[in-house]
Amino acid sequence: MLGQMMNFPLTIGSLVDHAARFHADTEITSVETKGGIETTTWGQVGENAHRLGDALAKLGLDPQTRCATIAWNNRRHLEIYFGVSGAGFVCHTINPRLFPEQLVYIITHADDRVLFIDRTFVPLVKAIRDQIPCVEHIVLMEGRDETLLAELPDLEFYDELIATGAPDTPWPDFDELTASSLCYTSGTTGNPKGVLYTHRSTVLHAFTSNTRDCIGFSARDVVLPVVPMFHVNAWGTPYACAQAGARMVLPGPGLDGPSLVKLIDNHKINIALGVPTIWLGLLNEAKASGSKLTSLERTVVGGSACPPSMIETFRDQYGVEVIHAWGMTEMSPLGSSNQPLAKHDDLPIEEQHKLRENQGRPPWGVDLKIVDENGAELPRDGVAQGGLLVRGHWILDAYFRASTEDTLTDGWFDTGDVATLDSNGYLSIKDRSKDIIKSGGEWISSVDLENIAIAHPALADAAVIGARHEKWDERPVLIAVAVDGEAPTESDVLSIFEGKIAKWQVPDCVVFTDVLPRNATGKVLKRNLRDTFGDVLMG
Ligand code: ADP
Repeated sequence: MLGQMMNFPLTIGSLVDHAARFHADTEITSVETKGGIETTTWGQVGENAHRLGDALAKLGLDPQTRCATIAWNNRRHLEIYFGVSGAGFVCHTINPRLFPEQLVYIITHADDRVLFIDRTFVPLVKAIRDQIPCVEHIVLMEGRDETLLAELPDLEFYDELIATGAPDTPWPDFDELTASSLCYTSGTTGNPKGVLYTHRSTVLHAFTSNTRDCIGFSARDVVLPVVPMFHVNAWGTPYACAQAGARMVLPGPGLDGPSLVKLIDNHKINIALGVPTIWLGLLNEAKASGSKLTSLERTVVGGSACPPSMIETFRDQYGVEVIHAWGMTEMSPLGSSNQPLAKHDDLPIEEQHKLRENQGRPPWGVDLKIVDENGAELPRDGVAQGGLLVRGHWILDAYFRASTEDTLTDGWFDTGDVATLDSNGYLSIKDRSKDIIKSGGEWISSVDLENIAIAHPALADAAVIGARHEKWDERPVLIAVAVDGEAPTESDVLSIFEGKIAKWQVPDCVVFTDVLPRNATGKVLKRNLRDTFGDVLMG
């Protein structure tokens, strides 16, 4: 016997319709790529999304045609998120920091027919235009601009395009399992791989993000997604904010410390989301300018391990709670977030603080387990560490144009991370499996060592790699970037490890360098560091 409740597909269009109907005058602030700040509302974003969806349909595109973006976080990008997916097309967000040959690969692999771009990326697209013949429409996310038209003769203009669409055309009906959006992993090894989200996975992910133990946006919040909209859908923030009717501030291209501090203070932002390197810039600027970041209550930090020293600075100097979260492109991305349990309230304060450092617990909808090298499950005791496997409602079943057999093992996706899990589900990421240091049969977590090193006041950045060693196979080596104007010695730097870890885990040496190489999503390229410094211990 079936139940007798109404049944609507879970669709992205319904999210923006809710925001536009019930939070119509809630403001969306947008830093524009050509300069200046625009203020719009959820009501207007909803109307423009419908106009865009209708305009795209009038171009004669087939359902699920891929419409790509190369753009910053701004209000037109937000309209494209909802307009493209709402109208049954697939919104493919592209990371502009990829190499041109990777961009060509991705656009061709996705078979993108429409490409929305910000003015910043006109030269980039011009350079690869003849290598992406699948693209039929290149749309500048602005009004008409004759100068840029001269640069790229087949350029079309967003404001003119949406003017051809009606504001009141309803979204077409389709199954909630229909593809909604597409992101490629940054492909540090091999070609980037596509992750094709469904409407259902996206809406369920938004629901969960909005629970109190995850991020929990509300209609009272002012949210700053610093995480780019080209990186795993800005961690799903636009969808979750539409669902909650939260106010958004979209920071545009300026993600430097001074721009962010100004935005936070001027717009009374209370929740911000981003990767640790972005917050380093913000904290430096707050210190230099004397801003107290008064309005800021929470920051969601993920993408790489958030150093405990950063959590402490936010907490003790600015009264900001850091929610440390973990996930990946293949997981939409939310896999876990760190919130305390009631029983932790009675612990001594240092222990409570210590508990906030790891990557937190999985929400309903994500299942996690750790396994040894033979695939046997390891205990959830907070000690055993192994390969981290996941499954759940917003985790991929197969990469785009690949098979489930090639993507999963017995229904689980291997994250490539090495972690411990405790009995309450708290997850501690130790490393990427390819980065963990294997010293004489023992494993050393490079993340643990980096977390300690980065707290050194004379260091601006730090990474630890396994360097080849005759006796121990690998030993940890610290690659360090000194703060401008500081020249710490090796022994001075290594002294920070004293009493914090076992002696045999302390790095064998420190190599100073000017800057750490990072990939398109801001993660340190350990492979490049190993290529450069992997033999420093070989005599
Ligand atoms: P990429 O495209 O580089 O794979 P992702 O954002 O999908 O980008 O990267 C996911 C990986 O990032 C995870 O598997 C994990 O190794 C790392 N990561 C993400 N969040 C955290 C975190 N809070 N702590 C440690 N590592 C993290």
